[in-house]
Amino acid sequence: HRLPVPQDDEALLRIAIVGGGIVGVSLTLGLLRLPNIQVKLYEQASTLREIGAGVAFTTNAQRCMELLSPDVIASMRAVSTKNEDPYYTYVDGYHSPEVPEGQKKSKHDDMKETQLFRLFAGNTGFDACHRAHFLDEMVKHLPESVVQFRKRLVMYEKRGDEYVLRFEDGSLDTADAIIGCDGIKSRVRQVLLGVDNPASYPGFTHQVAFRGLIRMGRAVEVLGKDKAHNQCMHMGPGAHMLNFPVAQHTLMNVVAFGAQAEEWTHEKMVAPASREEVLEIFRGWCPAVTAIAGLLGEVLDEDGVSTRASLDKWAIFDTYDNPAPTYADGCVCIAGDAAHATSPHHGAGAGMGIEDGLALATVFEQAIKTLHGQPEVRGTSKSEVVSAAFAAYNRVRRDRTQWLVRSSREVSRTYEWANPDCGMDPEKCLKDIEWRAHKIWYFDIDGMIKELASSYRHFLSL
Ligand code: FAD
Repeated sequence: HRLPVPQDDEALLRIAIVGGGIVGVSLTLGLLRLPNIQVKLYEQASTLREIGAGVAFTTNAQRCMELLSPDVIASMRAVSTKNEDPYYTYVDGYHSPEVPEGQKKSKHDDMKETQLFRLFAGNTGFDACHRAHFLDEMVKHLPESVVQFRKRLVMYEKRGDEYVLRFEDGSLDTADAIIGCDGIKSRVRQVLLGVDNPASYPGFTHQVAFRGLIRMGRAVEVLGKDKAHNQCMHMGPGAHMLNFPVAQHTLMNVVAFGAQAEEWTHEKMVAPASREEVLEIFRGWCPAVTAIAGLLGEVLDEDGVSTRASLDKWAIFDTYDNPAPTYADGCVCIAGDAAHATSPHHGAGAGMGIEDGLALATVFEQAIKTLHGQPEVRGTSKSEVVSAAFAAYNRVRRDRTQWLVRSSREVSRTYEWANPDCGMDPEKCLKDIEWRAHKIWYFDIDGMIKELASSYRHFLSL
């Protein structure tokens, strides 16, 4: 239940959240539960919207949602889908297994790939959902008055004890604290770290992704039930592909990754592509892989006939080369992709952003107690407590989230048999993937909360 907001405006801690993606919206819902806080969410677009693609969250990320706000976890549960099998399957997507003609029993025998290993995900692995469905559910819980649309932040500056935010439409607003959840090209990060600082900008990883949501009926028809309904990583040289079910098994999500040697010259991170382009990347791979590639961008007419193929290509950018040296400066901080934009090979960027959100809600709870309750620190200013809260957040969250950025690049090499420590050896590949996955899945949330509390007290010199 929500706590009542006091009438005394002076006492309110005014927090500006810039960016209404998964991280900004979930954080807003978390902070709205705290007393003595006024939250405003500024979004540059005219609506809160997500793309039509899948996103998966570990059990650990879902536990963070639960602690952050019952509205966030309820939104996730309303739309998420479980993998049928507690194991994730990794297959050799490149070398086709020999199935003698006489031994073929079903039309899906051609879709067989050699299983390399399986990773036990049990109760710790991912539940997947359609991004737009998840965001739409969260938005249902968001009071209208909290969100300001068409507010593209261009600059902020400190004036006295408060911050002035300037938006592209010329309007201004003020706040006691700013949290940049404005994604990979974060303007808040640029202002916080300096526009001349290379760490203010993400870099191109020279990888591109093709994404698609295939109707499950069509996926089963082409691939067979088992492959279409369960998460499967197709490994191979220089590229890889992942599929998993979403939207209560009505859709199969596909992400296919390939290399691009040339620089990315498009202004946006998405550019039109063709089915031929993705088929070319996977030419000579197993029939299952080329069949999935062929399904990308397929549009079926009323009779179920494939009529047109249109496809987008996503440039994969990250902050691997120039990590942010800090996530906080005074009463301004960054969270989610704004702080640690990662390539998506662990499928955990948004989950880490949710962890950030829980960390921020935790330190704000402490800060409010300081401002309103603790006699020994009465008289401490809002900016002192928020600075201590953000310093604690920075200290506790930076290592784990920057590790994710590095590990995601490294694990991608394992998927593509380019990790010199593993090569194509399935046992070594499994070990490499497993320890990384476990670091993400078995996260000590209570430990993080305790560490935040003690860091906060340290920075407040208590
Ligand atoms: P964003 O979603 O980018 O939201 C930023 C918001 O800020 C936007 O609404 C934008 O309009 C707004 N904004 C930007 N600039 C301004 C401004 N100046 N003023 C006002 N508003 C502004 N993660 C997972 O956890 N699991 C997965 O399975 C997964 N799969 C992925 C697959 C792919 C192919 C990719 C590319 C990523 C994947 N990720 C996954 C990562 C995940 O998508 C991101 O980490 C997550 O969406 C980041 O959310 P965010 O809210 O930080 O940023």
